[in-house]
Amino acid sequence: MSEVRVRFPPSPTGYLHIGGARTAILNWLYARKYNGKFILRIEDTDAERSTRESIEGILDGLTWLGIDWDEGPYFQTDFADQHIAAAEKMIAEGKAYRCYCTKEELEAKREATLAAKQSLKYDGTCRNLTAEERAAKEAKGLPSVIRFKVPEKDGVVAYEDKVLGRIERRYVDIEDFVIVRSNGKPLYLLSNVVDDIRDRITHIIRGQDHLTNTTRQILLYEALNAQIPVFAHMPLTLDLNKAKISKRSHGEIVAVQFYRAKGFIPWALVNFLVLLGWSPGDDREIFTKEELIEAFTLERINKSHAIFNYRKDDPKFFTDPKAININAHYLRTLPIAEIGDMVKKELQEAHLWDDAYDGEKKQWYLDTLDMIRDRFHTLKDFTTLGRAYFADDFAIEEAALNKNLLKYPELKNWLPMLADRFAALPVFDKDSVEQAARVFAEEIGVKPGIPINASRAVITGLVKGPSMFELFVHMGRDKVMERLRSAGKYFV
Ligand code: GLU
Ligand code: ZN
Repeated sequence: MSEVRVRFPPSPTGYLHIGGARTAILNWLYARKYNGKFILRIEDTDAERSTRESIEGILDGLTWLGIDWDEGPYFQTDFADQHIAAAEKMIAEGKAYRCYCTKEELEAKREATLAAKQSLKYDGTCRNLTAEERAAKEAKGLPSVIRFKVPEKDGVVAYEDKVLGRIERRYVDIEDFVIVRSNGKPLYLLSNVVDDIRDRITHIIRGQDHLTNTTRQILLYEALNAQIPVFAHMPLTLDLNKAKISKRSHGEIVAVQFYRAKGFIPWALVNFLVLLGWSPGDDREIFTKEELIEAFTLERINKSHAIFNYRKDDPKFFTDPKAININAHYLRTLPIAEIGDMVKKELQEAHLWDDAYDGEKKQWYLDTLDMIRDRFHTLKDFTTLGRAYFADDFAIEEAALNKNLLKYPELKNWLPMLADRFAALPVFDKDSVEQAARVFAEEIGVKPGIPINASRAVITGLVKGPSMFELFVHMGRDKVMERLRSAGKYFV
């Protein structure tokens, strides 16, 4: 078998969309599985809509996700000459022709065929011009487009889609489509094929929104005497109302950048996106890179459209809950050193980073993350919900305040008293702290849970968290005493 060569050819007209990222990921997986090449090609032919920022955003997004490419980025505009040359060659071989029909003429024909309820395709006026007629039009300097001459034959253009099975379309249903505009610019259908031939692409894995292009592109491959690649069309990603997800209707949640800003672990997003359109055939949902490469096959790409389960009206979830759950899974299970590197960036951004976390406080830092990560869903949670571990100015949760603190006004005095007990301990370890807290509760005549939960509230700002006796020791006597002694500020 020849080398597998796949490509991701985004049009740089916006940010990297999660649908685009999914396309890139599936192609990349296929290349990695077969030790092939993954080629990045920027389809910047639409000069008006293509932007530098968009190109940078796409490259950044892929890099952040860990999707590395072997060749490129190539830029389609660098190959415009090849696209035109291919069109000229087809003209010379009688496989394409210049069409001089004006917009007005084409419109009038459309109206007429519509009235007659005939096929709306181009009627082929210029296909049958004699050499003299053609020369006369050229002499007049009439503008022209180049149309592909769809073979006039019975039967169908057909191919075997790796996902959808046999796809066919009757020749008579395909019109002589335009491949070069009157301003001399090639169209996507042509450029894309010429580039794929030059780049020796063996497999084209792309969205079902391109299905109608594929049969026409196969005709171009045939006309250019090139080998037709394998096609695999992926399902679309729809929202709960079965509409395509888009920036216009869903906002920023469709951009890869959004997930980065929300504190996603890149591989967690890759894992989620792969499952949006592919399944392993069993109930596994979490995959390492190696496992995914091993399990991935084109045949297991789903036929039916994927549903992106996002409810704008549920404030608990800022995106598909499954994505959040997968992210939380990685947050809980990745080696703590890896989490440490990722959280470091978050802390730096939030101005909560202390260089000692890379030095003498490294173990404390990693232990902190390990103690608190079980309840978190994103990397951002470490700087928001986990802020009390890294700064003294943290907010207290509403529930912690009302339920664990204000409910017992005497805590205002009790917590500083508890601090005194801690101050008097010869050693500040888990057992002596627990002993002191229990004795203290008994003396003031309340359940130990009352001063303990109140301590949690003033030390972490949260209702729930790691075991309090461990936490006292972890935070250190000084910090614990300081926060217990200043409990009064919550009662004013
Ligand atoms: N530039 C096209 C797009 O972004 C590429 C389609 C293809 O894979 O052929 O949709
Ligand atoms: Zn014409």
